[in-house]
Amino acid sequence: MEVEADGNSESFIKIPEIKFTKLFINGNFVDSISGKTFESIDPRRGEVIAKVAEGDKEDVEFAVKAAREAFDHGPWPRLSGSARGRIMMKFADLIDENAEELAALDTIDAGKLFSLGKSPDIALSSGILRYYAGAADKIHGETLKMSGELQAYTLREPIGVVGHIIPWNFPSSIFFMNVSPALASGCTMVVKPAEQTPLSALYYAHLAKQAGIPNGVLNVITGFGPTAGAAIASHMDIDKVSFTGSTEVGRLVMQAAATSNLKHISLELGGKSPLIIFDDADVDKAADLALVGVLYNKGETCVAGSRVFVQEGIYDALEKKLLEKIKKWVVGDPFDPSVLQGPQVDKTQYDRILSYIEHGKREGATLLTGGKPWGEKGYYIEPTIFTDVKDSMLIARDEIFGPVMSLMKFKTIDEAITSANATRYGLAAGILTNNLNVANTVSRSIRAGIIWINCYFAIDGDCPFGGYKMSGFGRNLGMDALDKYLQVKSVVTPIYNSPWL
Ligand code: NAD
Repeated sequence: MEVEADGNSESFIKIPEIKFTKLFINGNFVDSISGKTFESIDPRRGEVIAKVAEGDKEDVEFAVKAAREAFDHGPWPRLSGSARGRIMMKFADLIDENAEELAALDTIDAGKLFSLGKSPDIALSSGILRYYAGAADKIHGETLKMSGELQAYTLREPIGVVGHIIPWNFPSSIFFMNVSPALASGCTMVVKPAEQTPLSALYYAHLAKQAGIPNGVLNVITGFGPTAGAAIASHMDIDKVSFTGSTEVGRLVMQAAATSNLKHISLELGGKSPLIIFDDADVDKAADLALVGVLYNKGETCVAGSRVFVQEGIYDALEKKLLEKIKKWVVGDPFDPSVLQGPQVDKTQYDRILSYIEHGKREGATLLTGGKPWGEKGYYIEPTIFTDVKDSMLIARDEIFGPVMSLMKFKTIDEAITSANATRYGLAAGILTNNLNVANTVSRSIRAGIIWINCYFAIDGDCPFGGYKMSGFGRNLGMDALDKYLQVKSVVTPIYNSPWL
């Protein structure tokens, strides 16, 4: 990695050399057909760091043609699972070899902590790729004994050409949650990273080629949602779209699928997750978990525990402890190893979060701490806690996607369950208690795709992850995710002295 210091040893400015800024189609980096580019901005200072090719409908067309040719006639879907798995393992090794540079790219593009980028984010990415590399030769159907003189077997075949539309909050791990099971299944694909964070996706395309993934299998189109993204969602020759992003855009993707070729879709959408802390929880540990639950990745986390419900017996002690700890929460340059919270991804997100904070104050919630921009440059916001929040308030209903906690008090377990479920979302929930009966009752009563008991953000390649309600459908991670990229074919044949013979 090339590092450029700005002469101020305290500022921790490290700019990796940006090597890839063009579209990646059929194994080559190419300019967009229009020749247009867009600016990638470093949120630490609001400055331009790269001009990236702006893909549009015609470029998507070109990429889909390459992916279709690679699917219909190329080697990838026809290779044995173990051969695909070996190439994917090599791809994962190359990611690990370049982890520092990749983490630095996500830091300057998304404002992510460099330390968190290296681990868990990049390490999780290569880990997910290895998990599915290992699964590639374990994809098989069933033998069925039918009624009458017939028997059948099922084949699980790759679904075809896939479009992956990726958000900006985890540009690396979400890329691999989507791309890895699709590669293992034998699909070919067009990936569109978010316009805020295009850089690491292009680097991954380069590494895929180096690892031996054939041309046309993995194409990357950088560009904007309403143009390049919409062209993927409505394309007649894309068989499946896997979308991760906001519920609003998820709805558009679903509409586009319905009015084009009825392509399969899966949606990983927003959340407004509850963390429920019972009286028997350790106050110190609960405060740590509550802070990390909402402030991790500066709150730009789909599973952020942004609604913290605390039982009345420990409420006051917990509030005090949160205030104590938040004073030591360090905001600043995400390259600085002592920093816990970097800048929001861009000006739009920064303005959006600040306007939610203003809304919370107007609605009558009490601003316990924070609530203001931090520093003089870039898109930093103070870690913020509201109290006196009601379920009906906008700050308790909408996904703010920023470092803003709503702290709420409850008396009974039923009250906690009702409030936790008082949301249109259903992505995740956390429960802190040592009472097994309470943990079991609450985990079964909450309508969310993942429940963390006495932990939070425990995400692993082997554990399915996805939404209930308006947080979407379809599961990432685990063996379940392969189903998104496979379809079942039944092959039936007569046996013995069947009348068919
Ligand atoms: P977004 O919906 O604005 O954008 C996501 C992606 O969709 C981007 O690549 C964007 O360019 C593209 N897009 C935008 N308009 C489009 C259109 N009309 N047609 C097709 N594609 C379009 O979301 P975001 O702001 O990038 O990400 C934040 C959201 O993502 C939050 O709501 C967050 O909760 C959600 N998210 C969910 C998960 C999950 O696993 N459930 C993970 C991460 C983020």
